[in-house]
Amino acid sequence: MTISDALKSSLLKYKENEPLAKYSTMRVGDEADFLVEIHSEEDLKTFLNLYKDYADLPLLILGEGSNTLFSDGYRGIVLHMMNAGIEQISEDDNFVTIRVTAGQNWHKFVEYTVNNNLSGVENLAFIPGTVGAAPVQNIAAYGQVQEDSFLSLEAYEISTGEKQVFDEPECEFGYRSSVFKTTLKDKFVISSVTYKLKKASEYIPETSYHSRYESLSGILEEIATAPYTLKDVFNAVVEIRKRKLPQVEDYGTLGSFFVNPFITTEKLKEIQIKFPDIQYYPVDKMQYPALEDSKLKDAELVKIPVGWLLEELGWKGKMIGNVGTYQKHALCVITNGPATGKEVIEYMNQMKKSVMDATGIEIQSEVNIV
Ligand SMILES: Cc1cc2nc3c(=O)[nH]c(=O)nc-3n(C[C@H](O)[C@H](O)[C@H](O)COP(=O)(O)OP(=O)(O)OC[C@H]3O[C@@H](n4cnc5c(N)ncnc54)[C@H](O)[C@@H]3O)c2cc1C
Repeated sequence: MTISDALKSSLLKYKENEPLAKYSTMRVGDEADFLVEIHSEEDLKTFLNLYKDYADLPLLILGEGSNTLFSDGYRGIVLHMMNAGIEQISEDDNFVTIRVTAGQNWHKFVEYTVNNNLSGVENLAFIPGTVGAAPVQNIAAYGQVQEDSFLSLEAYEISTGEKQVFDEPECEFGYRSSVFKTTLKDKFVISSVTYKLKKASEYIPETSYHSRYESLSGILEEIATAPYTLKDVFNAVVEIRKRKLPQVEDYGTLGSFFVNPFITTEKLKEIQIKFPDIQYYPVDKMQYPALEDSKLKDAELVKIPVGWLLEELGWKGKMIGNVGTYQKHALCVITNGPATGKEVIEYMNQMKKSVMDATGIEIQSEVNIV
């Protein structure tokens, strides 16, 4: 039986030769041979059981495609995670535990927590994408990281169809990284994620990000009156993101295209000769455990803002055809009309080369290129 016949005789919803551009917020991509919709855990089990006989076909797990760049079409099966749901599973005096299914829209989940006066993910409001993808790159913004509130996740192993529970250490969270982006990449389908959120009846916003992220405290002062509530912080994050970042309704975008590089202080001194105003931040080892394996372990490292560097190099707002960077943010590659994945990759490679030529640093893409 062909895969087409097997899908036809299953209860799964699927499409053949499906154009991919509408499944990535970058709005580029050719056709996928098959796109299978996963609306429930039952759908996922059915699919994995069926897929056992066709495991030589490439399989791509997809949420809302806000971190996925299709360089071309996809000769295989795209598994589109659409199983949305939020369920409270326990509560004590201080915390509430919530299980969220993988296809749930992340921002709607954050909104739910804030409406229920639960704190822990409010600074991550308005990040596009699904809950299932959030642990994959350990999403972070304005001083908060999803791992801070993460309790565990459930995932199905693709090769066996068996369900496993991963606790926090097993996920090996790092800066924009987890085990699902490294050793277990494409081996598990995350079906749900469980978060532990703090009851915020007497909410006092953390002051740490106020000092580190002046932009957020500025907007808080503008839109609300101290003492700030959880909802004020949520509204401030949404507002600042609307002002600073390209909106998926207006442009093709995947947000930040590159991760901020870590460099030695020695390298920093070298770069400062050319860029005396470059900012740098200390690297928090607790937050970036991947560095423990690095040769640079004992060296003093700093993180530098690649967006600033790209702006200095003249990339802000520069368009080549319909591909370019956002007028307000050199780190955000956008499309503002019909474009191809190849054109986006060509543009990205030119950015990389320009940073390499100017600093000798090889910048790494934050997005998943398929
Ligand atoms: C305007 C904009 C702003 C952004 N701002 C931020 C930000 O502030 N901080 C930040 O961290 N990110 C940011 N992002 C990136 C993006 O929103 C996140 O990475 C998000 O978590 C991606 O979710 P998604 O469902 O769209 O993932 P997709 O692009 O669909 O998938 C991303 C990766 O996760 C894998 N994956 C998806 N679902 C599953 C699953 N259920 N099981 C296993 N693997 C899975 C995919 O195979 C792929 O490798 C931004 C993006 C945009 C467009």
